[in-house]
Amino acid sequence: MVIVMQKHAPDASIEHVVAELISRGFDVHRSTGSDQTVLGVVGHVDTIDPREFELFDGVQEVVRVSEPYKLSSRTFKREKTVVNARGVEIGGDKVVVMAGPCTIESETQLFETARRVARAGARVLRGGAYKPRTSPYAFQGMGVEGLKLLRAAGDETNMATVSEVMEISQIETMLEYVDILQVGARNMQNYNLLSALGQIRKPVLLKRGMSATIQEWLLAAEYIMAGGNYDIILCERGIRTFETYTRNTFDISAIPVIGKLSHLPIVGDPSHAVGRRDKVMPVARAVVAAGGDGLLIEVHHDPDKAVCDGPQSLYPDQFARLMDELRIIVPAVGRSV
Ligand code: PEP
Ligand code: MN
Repeated sequence: MVIVMQKHAPDASIEHVVAELISRGFDVHRSTGSDQTVLGVVGHVDTIDPREFELFDGVQEVVRVSEPYKLSSRTFKREKTVVNARGVEIGGDKVVVMAGPCTIESETQLFETARRVARAGARVLRGGAYKPRTSPYAFQGMGVEGLKLLRAAGDETNMATVSEVMEISQIETMLEYVDILQVGARNMQNYNLLSALGQIRKPVLLKRGMSATIQEWLLAAEYIMAGGNYDIILCERGIRTFETYTRNTFDISAIPVIGKLSHLPIVGDPSHAVGRRDKVMPVARAVVAAGGDGLLIEVHHDPDKAVCDGPQSLYPDQFARLMDELRIIVPAVGRSV
């Protein structure tokens, strides 16, 4: 249930409504716009008679949210969320490009790649330190040594950093080195992990599970938001279909659909969707044209020698060309780079 306060409702009226809700055992989440506050009420709201709260001072209307996700819905918050990661705004006017290797392999690999993507215009450096590999025999990541390299490379090139968290015990260490914690497709329904991420106050990049519906994905976001962490960036990375030519199928329509259903920013990851370098650039262009707030792209300074996801990693020159193309497309859809 959502309680929409009147424009410029006095703080005392808002506090009164909040106090009443809390005394009845509900969780209250505030969304404060430029001139209006909206209260998201979660719990067994069926027991509330909306008319009762409509009579409180300063209340404009009480709306039942029909979707199962509440805090991530547009009903709760009409204005788009802008997530701030070390000064980089995701969901604002600028389209933000995050780039880097699939996995951190060595100092040389990470720094060389970071310098090249930063020079081309990337604002966030990606790199996995804990890797969810399909095979237990594949390289599992450098762990905390990788995180240290990521921080150092991000600092040198003035980029924020994003890296995947796979389990609750890694969160504390990651907070020290990483600006955005990524939840991978395989963990989108790891509800204990999502709840734990609700307790931190750092942005989370939540990838869509490979067989998740949009509703399941927004409910995963809801797990994090229910704990009070509202800084979520959704990431479409392709879903499994009957098609085998590409690694996954990029669901381009998820971008405008999320834009309608949710206030959360959404970025696209064409690399894991198509799984092959020659198809990454056209899908990346489509993400931006469809209204995506940004991109997550795998780039490697020497992809032919990459330990992980080499065939889908762009060469630095290709990435620079993509950035040049984006500088043409992005203004055409009313944004900037
Ligand atoms: C990744 O970003 O390297 C990754 C493992 O992605 P996904 O969870 O989308 O497969
Ligand atoms: Mn990868």
